[in-house]
Amino acid sequence: MPTLFDSTVAGVGRIGPNRELKKALEKFWADPSTGRELSATAQRLTRELSENLGKNGLSSIAHAGRSYYDAVHDVTALLGLFPQRVRVFADHTIDDGLPGHIDRYFAAARGAQGIPALAMTKWFDTNYHYLVPELSSVSQPELDAEWFVADIADAVAVEPRIRPVLVGPITYLALARTTDGSCPFELLDAVVDCYAELITRLAATGVGWIQLDEPILATDIDADPERAGAIGGKAEKTYRRLAAALHDSHPDTGLVVQTYFGDGNAAVELLQDTGIDALGVDLVTYRTDERCSAGEKTSPEQLLPAWKGGIGIVAGVVDGRNIWRTDLSDALEVIEALKSRGEVAVSTSASLLHVPYTLAGDSSFDTDPELKSWLAFGAEKAGEVAVLARLAAGESSAELEAAVQESTAARASRTNSGRTHSATVRSRVAAVTDSDRTRQPWQVRRSAQKTSVPLPPLATTTIGSFPQTSQIRQARAAHRNGKIDDRAYREAMEKEIADCIARQEELGLDVLVHGEAERNDMVQYFSEQLHGYHATANGWVQSYGSRCVRPPILYGDIVRPEAMTVDWFAFAQSLTDKPVKGMLTGPVTMLAWSFVRDDQPLGDTADQVALVLRDEIADLVAAGAKIIQVDEPAIRELLPLVKDRKGDYLAWSVGSFRLATGGAAPETQIHTHMCYSEFNELIDAIDDLDADVTSIEAARNGMQVLAAVKDHGYSRGIGPGVWDIHSPRVPDRGEVDELVDAALESVPAEALWINPDCGLKTRGWEETTASLEVLVAAAQAARDRLQ
Ligand code: GLN
Ligand code: ZN
Repeated sequence: MPTLFDSTVAGVGRIGPNRELKKALEKFWADPSTGRELSATAQRLTRELSENLGKNGLSSIAHAGRSYYDAVHDVTALLGLFPQRVRVFADHTIDDGLPGHIDRYFAAARGAQGIPALAMTKWFDTNYHYLVPELSSVSQPELDAEWFVADIADAVAVEPRIRPVLVGPITYLALARTTDGSCPFELLDAVVDCYAELITRLAATGVGWIQLDEPILATDIDADPERAGAIGGKAEKTYRRLAAALHDSHPDTGLVVQTYFGDGNAAVELLQDTGIDALGVDLVTYRTDERCSAGEKTSPEQLLPAWKGGIGIVAGVVDGRNIWRTDLSDALEVIEALKSRGEVAVSTSASLLHVPYTLAGDSSFDTDPELKSWLAFGAEKAGEVAVLARLAAGESSAELEAAVQESTAARASRTNSGRTHSATVRSRVAAVTDSDRTRQPWQVRRSAQKTSVPLPPLATTTIGSFPQTSQIRQARAAHRNGKIDDRAYREAMEKEIADCIARQEELGLDVLVHGEAERNDMVQYFSEQLHGYHATANGWVQSYGSRCVRPPILYGDIVRPEAMTVDWFAFAQSLTDKPVKGMLTGPVTMLAWSFVRDDQPLGDTADQVALVLRDEIADLVAAGAKIIQVDEPAIRELLPLVKDRKGDYLAWSVGSFRLATGGAAPETQIHTHMCYSEFNELIDAIDDLDADVTSIEAARNGMQVLAAVKDHGYSRGIGPGVWDIHSPRVPDRGEVDELVDAALESVPAEALWINPDCGLKTRGWEETTASLEVLVAAAQAARDRLQ
């Protein structure tokens, strides 16, 4: 029996503390002769990470191998399950240290000439995206593991504590899609054969432990019987086989199954008798009544009721996906309570992939040591784990005592700070009533808006952003670096806005936008202007592939010192007689794409954001706005993974949108936008938002979402996207005509809007102009047909 390590982190990022992998990847994609540099960078990053974790004193060190894009995609590579269409790429035989399949790997990840990429989607309820495996009943998994095993063998020779981490077979198949409608689990036996061989080979490199990640086991695994079937039963059988395969050949190597993002108790119940050695559980996410809440915590004694003590528990007590410093005394209580029942290791609740590498050297904190003292990024979290493990082992020293005291003091300073608790903000939130969240009935609004914004049926508009040209990005960068002053910057942006308005008039769109040239990002732009929010200098987190985001930190009560968008709007509106939409980011999206305070319920924080948006709407209306769009692309992303939490979530998220928009008079037309098409589950909630017009993604699946809209009896304006902006292709007229006709079957002409799927900031002007010409012409032709 392997003995359990006492401290670790659940997983690590791949992008590098200064986005080194991003830079090497983009260089390689532009110039394939730089493969040596790419493989060396990946190797150096994993080695440095292991060294740093090792220095902290962790007794087991998560190691993802040299991963070049995404961990799910790494498994696709290991199992030789790339889609058929990338097999045109032969093995990469250049001796540059990259795996033989690397050209297929990148072609499947990013697409290539004539070859569409794999679908990409959000990893559970995070903002990280994985590549969706594309399988069919004739897929034949075949292990291609030399590259990975060799990597681990090299790493373990330098650092014997490393523990290879891979996405496990159940989660892999549960997240896969098939092209022939078959169930991905038909491949389970063959896939498990590959895993059995793989873990045996990994054990032969001398590693003490191997980790398979199964986050799917912490969601409602049996909630969708059709797709998931009895995932539980499959998981149990699978891990019996894998544990036996490993232990027959390597009885001293441990197998740990890691869950996260939900309650691990079901996984414990399922897997504790299968022969695995330990199970990793998230003891942060749902220890309170919602993710990220200061509510009553489950008492340490009541955690993991199913655990009988026969296997070890890797206890995720340090939050792996948020950036707050851990309350060490509270975490220690959990560890101690569990320790009285069996073997326990201290860990993070999730992979450190989701948080920036380190606070050290982030210049944004130079002038704000107070905020810095409240936080822990990846490296600091590893330090917290190490401290907890030593405390749990009974060690006592002045250093450890000081660490606990500092953590308590940081918490107290946060609780008592005027920056986190403003009496004015709090009394305003406390005074909110239902009527603040309620506009006049739709009938009243509809007739008021007929006069305030007279529009033809099938009105045309866009979602907000127009191409972010390099000229725009350069002007923003020059302003940020002080190379141009405020006035020169304003002039540069006004020139862009004027150009954008002129082009829209030329195109003949009915409702115009200013184009969002001044916005680096739809959340960051607002966060930089609000008190209670902090933007880091180097807090990068991988979003997908080489794309990284720098989520701002929402740490305190939200105050809007002045209007945030009114000048740009007013300038744009002054240039045209057509209505220009005011553009805002909704409260839920502001939260979803930030690191959010964990000392109060998310709903309270969302209401604070809603109130500043409400004030912004009032200011926009005063400046002449007739139409205001409040984007909520992330409403679905934050939806809890377990059924019994969904109702609460929908109540506060919808409530915050209604609070933001509830002050708008009947003649102000409120739009919202969401960019996904799996609408069905949320249709009631979307109806409850009570927006006058909702634009949604629809082009890619041929308007299927409208069936749900029709069944629901949705009566207000709706704009199903008729141009899939995620592709650079200009749609043909015939295609758009068909989509418009399909839409007209479910939506009356008066309620139907014609618009693209999403914002256009990633597109170029050429395809944008050509596509919008098609869209406007299709709308006009449909109006003519209707008469
Ligand atoms: N208004 C935003 C834009 O057009 C909306 C972006 C989004 O939906 N993600 O860019
Ligand atoms: Zn969108």
